[in-house]
Order: sequence, then structure tokens, then C-alpha cells
Amino acid sequence: MPSITKPRMKYTDPDFRRDPKTDQWCAICQKDIKGEPKFYIHLIDGCMALHPDDEEKWNDDTSPTQGEDYGIQPIGPDCAKRLGLEWTCEKE
Ligand SMILES: [Zn+2]
Repeated sequence: MPSITKPRMKYTDPDFRRDPKTDQWCAICQKDIKGEPKFYIHLIDGCMALHPDDEEKWNDDTSPTQGEDYGIQPIGPDCAKRLGLEWTCEKE
């Protein structure tokens, strides 16, 4: 059996109860982000953050994990710390 390598992903536990007041908000808690966002995550199917080191695995067509791709989304500093900074990635 070949080993199946799934990309690492982590549930972001989003909170969509509030309505953003500006056009730039955190993808997890929907709080507005003031100024230039410092943190980004690659948001994928099921409100999961894709580990930045596993982009290749995610993009691999033979990957057993397929799903929606919401691209690189900004998140606020509080959510970045809660999720873990190792899950944040560079802006596209
Ligand atoms: Zn947030």
C-alpha cells in the first residue's frame, strides 16, 4: 500500500455571528481588520486552514483530499494566535 499523504489542516472554528462593517475582515471571527492585515491563512473546504508547508499536497490531483478552495484570506492577530502562527501564510 502506498502511504496516503494528506495535507495537514486545522479547523478554524469560525464565528460568523457578527457583520463586518468594512470590506476587510477576519476570515475566522469576521471582526474588521484595521489597516493592512498582518496574518493570512489558506482557507479550504469546511472552514479549515491549510498548513503552509502542505500547499503541494493540497494541489496534487492525486491527493485524497479534495474540496473547495477559498484562497488566501486575512485574519486578525487574535485569531492568528489562537489558531497558531505556524498555520498562517504569506499573502498571495
Ligand atoms: Zn478573527
